[in-house]
Amino acid sequence: MEFRDLKRQYQNNQEEIDQAIQRVLLKTNFISGNEVLEIEKSLASYVGTKHCISCANGTDALQLALMVWGIGEGDAVFVPDFTFFSTAEVVALVGATPVFVDVDEDTFNMSPESLQEAIEKVKREGRLQAKVVIAVDLFGQSANYDEIKIIVKSQHLMLLEDGAQGFGGAIRGKRNCSFGDISTTSFFPAKPLGCYGDGGAVFTDNDDWAELLRSYRVHGKGSDKYDNVRIGLNSRLDTLQAAVLKVKLDIFERYELEAVNQMSSEYTEKLKGIVKTPVVLKGYLSSWAQYSILCKDSEERERIMRMLKEKGIPSMIYYCRPMHMQGAFQGLKYSCPVELKVTEKLCKRVLSLPMHPYLKLEEIEETCNIIKEAK
Ligand SMILES: *Cc1c(COP(=O)(O)O)cnc(C)c1O
Repeated sequence: MEFRDLKRQYQNNQEEIDQAIQRVLLKTNFISGNEVLEIEKSLASYVGTKHCISCANGTDALQLALMVWGIGEGDAVFVPDFTFFSTAEVVALVGATPVFVDVDEDTFNMSPESLQEAIEKVKREGRLQAKVVIAVDLFGQSANYDEIKIIVKSQHLMLLEDGAQGFGGAIRGKRNCSFGDISTTSFFPAKPLGCYGDGGAVFTDNDDWAELLRSYRVHGKGSDKYDNVRIGLNSRLDTLQAAVLKVKLDIFERYELEAVNQMSSEYTEKLKGIVKTPVVLKGYLSSWAQYSILCKDSEERERIMRMLKEKGIPSMIYYCRPMHMQGAFQGLKYSCPVELKVTEKLCKRVLSLPMHPYLKLEEIEETCNIIKEAK
């Protein structure tokens, strides 16, 4: 069994994907081909923002947003302690200080209470300027924007949505990657909408920021590529990736998002009462980047993983270490003004199971039976 079966996805859509790639090969417009503009339009329309600026990957997308806002030395950026490394890495990369915030026990997403407390403490201390909140749509579910937006507004901060795992998710029909002042996503192959290499995108309704993003993404270009008015990056989405994404966005909309939601219901049906199954808030739709259960403790998790592995079923730990305990941050400026107990607990107990739109019901059943046996 595959954790995320990209081969089955390809085989199911081979003709369309091959043709899309072939068209680019024949035109040889590998950088800045028409497909790039076309996919940007489709992506913006899908998530419901005015602009989509594609780029080389989801990490660059976050960095570009911070560059546009001029975030740097002395600025505090609030980041969940339970996320992929990029979310905090980019903060350090632009010279600002990541301030780690605890997460909610049920959704694994940034805890609004913990965020409020962290902001108040940073402001009271007065050493750093509170500037940005990066909320992550972890495992496919939107962060709690109903509450986070109120806090961000009342504290006069900027909201950056890290939707790398959240593409396709929504709150009451409003889609992920449209909640931030700037929002980002990743097209890393294993994400809900993945390409065949690295890719990413930035979303915003703000015309000025969109123009700056387009400049920063190509060496800080001015009127053209050889007129450089600021220091930027080389961070483009290439034409082949855009062509693949055009096909994949179509099947994502038509079929895949619904399929992963069926898969997750099957899992939850079979696992409820046995392990803690994922909680999706009322009115929220997840795009199931991961289906993550909570085991009783790390011993039980070890046992489940081992027994699954014996039957050829992969499982993964996202994430085994809180951000504030990552080696990279030890020599750096970072701040932990609040307790991070939920994150520490989750890291010991969380376990992600195979999840993708092409799973078979027998495969879900087999996985769940082994988990029952391992209890
Ligand atoms: C994958 C991921 C990223 C980074 O995306 P890349 O395209 O791999 O650079 C950022 N944030 C989160 C939460 C992610 O899961």
